[in-house]
Amino acid sequence: MASSAVGHMISVEEAIAAIRTEVNAKSAERLALSDALGCVLAEDVCSDLDVPQNDQSIVDGYAVRAADFALRAIQAEGTDVELEILEEVTAGNVPSSTVKNGQTVRVMTGVAMPPGADAVVMIEEVECRDEAKMPMGIARFSNTQVAPGQNIMRRGKSLQRGQLVLAAGAPIGGVEMGLLAQAGCNGVRVIPKPTLAVLPTGDELIDPGFDPAPGKIRNSNGPMLMGCGRQLGLDVLDLGIGRDDVDHLRHAIERGLSADVLIISGGVSAGTRDLVPQVLTELNVRARFHKVKVKPGKPLWFGVAENAQQTKVFGLPGNPVSSFVCFQVFVRPALKQLSGQQIDPATSLPFARLSSRFEGVGNRVVYHPAQLSWSKDGPEIECVLWHGSGDLRALSRANALAIFPPGDTACEAGQSVAYQRLD
Ligand code: AMP
Ligand code: MG
Repeated sequence: MASSAVGHMISVEEAIAAIRTEVNAKSAERLALSDALGCVLAEDVCSDLDVPQNDQSIVDGYAVRAADFALRAIQAEGTDVELEILEEVTAGNVPSSTVKNGQTVRVMTGVAMPPGADAVVMIEEVECRDEAKMPMGIARFSNTQVAPGQNIMRRGKSLQRGQLVLAAGAPIGGVEMGLLAQAGCNGVRVIPKPTLAVLPTGDELIDPGFDPAPGKIRNSNGPMLMGCGRQLGLDVLDLGIGRDDVDHLRHAIERGLSADVLIISGGVSAGTRDLVPQVLTELNVRARFHKVKVKPGKPLWFGVAENAQQTKVFGLPGNPVSSFVCFQVFVRPALKQLSGQQIDPATSLPFARLSSRFEGVGNRVVYHPAQLSWSKDGPEIECVLWHGSGDLRALSRANALAIFPPGDTACEAGQSVAYQRLD
């Protein structure tokens, strides 16, 4: 996408494609396991041991020889079996005795099977006859059925030494943290998460703790965009509020260019104090496009800094819903791509049945706040009441954006429309 895209409006698809060509996954790094949550694995990980490491009991119980019980069944049905308890083995310890005919070892969950034993009977089914000699004494089994192998997990059943645990490309969530720990990975090669800086701009903005004087409004985009970044698990640099002043903006943007991605809100439209594009150009951030055929979000600006990390800079329009929609549609996929995550191509957008008629106007694709639900006929989508790009509250009633094609045409109820989930 050349500079020809700057100055004329491009389509959503062209904008997404332009962003995609500029964004590469960050280079892999070795991180401590404790820092790897939310990253994408950059190497195949194999287990350095069998899990479990031994044949082990899966219950608290008595390790026995099934033959002792088979004999009883032949002799006289209903006769109790009594076995001598050799020892008790608790978690973290290993058996020291071998179980022979007439003998048993009390084992707790996860303990290795003592040699000679081939089954475990749950502790709840066994009575200890000689309480005084506990934990030794005699264990009495009344009417107990014992099959060889019962309540035993075999060595390597879950995972074998050398076996692939997780392949490169796997996102590391809670379960993966556990698996990597189990496989002996104290450190691991991952694609590190990108850093994000957020700069809301505007002379009208005040902090949420104050009452707005005439002409002022509370800065909602800052907390919203930082929240969106943090929801993705990213570290977010808060640049405070930028003013509609070249020097002030230059200073704040310079700080923001230390991040992998800088999101600026406001100051990219056609107003006389919309100074962001000019300051970005001055700071060697090269514009890739300005203005997209999308509603809301038309003034969207995107460029790449000529610095070491080639900071990707998004100038989002100031109206809160415009900012949010641009984040969801354009920024979020870029953040995922930088993180090494698989992103869905635009062509794979899901579709749902529209529950009521929608009147389209204008030459831009509309992303409308909507409520997605599941009916017996499949996914259904309903536009929520929305008063335009300044109406942030409408988004709190939405769990998706319904996507309507450009043109002065209506979409009828029952028609299929594309949507993007908000989660
Ligand atoms: P701009 O894109 O700078 O022309 O801003 C357009 C409108 O968006 C402004 O008039 C404000 O009402 C609103 N706006 C801009 N920045 C913010 C913000 N950080 N929080 C809430 N509203 C904002
Ligand atoms: Mg402004």
